[in-house]
Amino acid sequence: MSFRDTVTLAGTTFKKEGPLSLAPMVYDVIVVGGGPAGLTAGVYARTRKLSTLILEAQATGGQLEWLYPTKSVYDYPSYIAIEGGELAQLFVLHSRESGAEIRAEEVVDVQRQASGFKLATRQGNVYEGRSIILAMGMGLFEPKRLDVPGEAEFETKGVEYRVRDRREFKGKRVVVVGGGDSALEIALEIVAAAKKVILVHRREEFRAMEKNVEAVMDSQIEVLFNAEVTSLEGNGKVERAVVYDNRTLKKTVLDVDAVIVNIGFEPKITPLPRWGVELEGDRLIRVKADMSTSVRGIYACGDMVSYPGKDKRIVTGCGEAVTAVMSVYKYLRQPYWA
Ligand code: NAP
Repeated sequence: MSFRDTVTLAGTTFKKEGPLSLAPMVYDVIVVGGGPAGLTAGVYARTRKLSTLILEAQATGGQLEWLYPTKSVYDYPSYIAIEGGELAQLFVLHSRESGAEIRAEEVVDVQRQASGFKLATRQGNVYEGRSIILAMGMGLFEPKRLDVPGEAEFETKGVEYRVRDRREFKGKRVVVVGGGDSALEIALEIVAAAKKVILVHRREEFRAMEKNVEAVMDSQIEVLFNAEVTSLEGNGKVERAVVYDNRTLKKTVLDVDAVIVNIGFEPKITPLPRWGVELEGDRLIRVKADMSTSVRGIYACGDMVSYPGKDKRIVTGCGEAVTAVMSVYKYLRQPYWA
C-alpha cells in the first residue's frame, strides 16, 4: 500500500507521517498540556470524534507523574488511594486508547490564522488546530534551591528535589528540608523504608496542613525546628549536612546519605502573555462558565484557569476539561441541539 502526501477521509485531510501512521493536517482541537485536565479533554474530545492532538512539555500525566509518582493520591473519587504515577499512566492510557494523539513537545508560540491557529513547538514543529484547549497546570516550574555551599556540587549525588521512587531511600539516612505540605508528605512517604528521616525546618511551626503535621508528629520522623542547613559536605556524594539552630547558633553536623530539598517551586517564564488571552496576574487565564477565554476558539481548564469559586483539584480540573470540550464541539460543529 502506498500513500500520496495527503489523503481525505470523512471530510478530514490527513498527511503522510511514516509508512503506517496518518496525522490530520488540521486538528479539530489541540490541547496544550498533558496532565489530568488535558488528558481528560482528549478522552471527551474523542467521544465527539474531534481529531485531537495533546502536546505536553514536561511529563505526560503532569504533576502526578513529574512531581510525585510514588506518592498516594487520596482524593480522586473511586480510588481510596492510588499512587500518582499509576493514576497518571491510567489517564494517559485512557486518552490514547480513545484516539487522542499525544506528543512530548513544548508549545512556544500560538498564532491566529483565518481557519484557526498555528502552534509552534520548541522541537521545531508547527501544528494547526481549528481550536485550542489550554491545560498547562501551573506551567513549567523548577524546584527552589537552598543556595548553600555543596548543594550544586552534590545535586543528583544525594541532593534531590523530588522523589521519583521512595524505594531509592531504603535503609538511608535522609534529611528533608522544608515546612510545607510537599516536604512533610515526602518525609512521610519515605519514612517506612528509610533508616532515619530528619525534617529540618527554619521556623518553630509548619505551614503544612494539620493532617500532615499530625502524621509527622505521630511518626518516626525526627523534627528539627528553627534549624537551617548552611552547607553540604561529602566526597563525590553528599555525606554531611551542617545545620544551625537559628536561635542559639548551635551547630550540628548530621551524617546523611541523602538530602531532599522541598522548599517550594519557582515558575519558569510563561509564554502566556504573548498568546493574547486575557489573564489574571501573569499566569492564570480568565474563563467564563463554558471555559471560553477572551479569544474565540481558545478554551482553558485545570489549574491555570481563574473564575469565582475555582478550586485546584484533579477532579475539578477534569470536570472543567469536559466543559471545555463541549464548548469546542458546539463552536466547531454548531449542533442543532445546542
Ligand atoms: P510551600 O507551601 O511554599 O512551603 C515551602 C516551605 O519551604 C515553607 O515551610 C518555607 O518556610 C520553606 N522555605 C522556603 N524557602 C526556604 C529556604 N530558602 N530555606 C529553608 N526553608 C525554606 O511549598 P510546598 O510545600 O511545595 O507547597 C506548595 C503548595 O502546594 C501549597 O499550597 C501546599 O499546600 C500545596 N500542596 C498541597 C498538597 C496536598 O494537597 N496534598 C501537597 C503538596 C503541596 P517558611 O514557612 O518559613 O516560609
